[in-house]
Amino acid sequence: MRVTFHGVRGSVPAPGKSTARYGGNTSCVEVRTSDDTLIVLDAGTGLRELGKTFQGGPCKLHMLISHTHWDHVLGLPFFGPLWNRDSELIVYPLASDAQERFRETITLFDEIHFPVGVNDIPSEIDFVKPAEEVWRIGSAEVRRIKLNHPGGAQGFRIDDDDGTSLSYLTDNELSAPSGVVTTLDELARFTDEVDLLIHDSQYLPKDMPLKVGWGHSVVDDVLQLGAKARAKRLALFHHDPDRTDDQLDVIGTSSIEWMKQSSPDTSVFVAAEGDELDLTK
Ligand SMILES: [Zn+2]
Ligand SMILES: [Zn+2]
Repeated sequence: MRVTFHGVRGSVPAPGKSTARYGGNTSCVEVRTSDDTLIVLDAGTGLRELGKTFQGGPCKLHMLISHTHWDHVLGLPFFGPLWNRDSELIVYPLASDAQERFRETITLFDEIHFPVGVNDIPSEIDFVKPAEEVWRIGSAEVRRIKLNHPGGAQGFRIDDDDGTSLSYLTDNELSAPSGVVTTLDELARFTDEVDLLIHDSQYLPKDMPLKVGWGHSVVDDVLQLGAKARAKRLALFHHDPDRTDDQLDVIGTSSIEWMKQSSPDTSVFVAAEGDELDLTK
């Protein structure tokens, strides 16, 4: 599989000089399986960047959405291929009934939040409901897991027939104060030995206790998960909109140092917009 990060920010887009290097667009990750099937993880504003790569042409993609908070769906109306009648978007089920309501108007296309109504979208949008627990998408198998986030969210594990694997877990609070639906140990098992683990790393210990229960993880907990899961690579993701590039550099340096001591077979990096990885290498 090949992976490209188009949006790595959490909560709200954060453009500006202090965030230009890591990027200000919200969650969107492009995955190309070994048979070149396109899977898109979340439709944050980074989706617009992916859209530009089609240069006005159509596309066929499989969309996996963690949940429907704004920062994970706002790119959809601005995704170029959506407005091409030859495009096909296959949207997979969401985690909860509340989110299922997203289908009715695709929330954003209600003519209040966006001028074009849902029935005037020219491309084909298919909401599929696979009967199987494990979804087959192209050359890959996709599994889901519930995450600890207000209103619910789901994480994904993608295993390609070429032997590569990745796990995408955002938004998720590893040390949630109450009502934990999935523990750190369960997530470590779910994501065991993946080639790439992408995880929400929005906060630092100094952000607490103010942001306890907000549904995002402290970097320290994410490092623990990466080590426990024996992931080959760990991408710190869903950066706080107020975190500057210089602060993310510091987080990267200290995380690499911690991982060297604790789990030398796992490499860790701070995900940046435009980062591309070939998981076969
Ligand atoms: Zn988010
Ligand atoms: Zn969220």
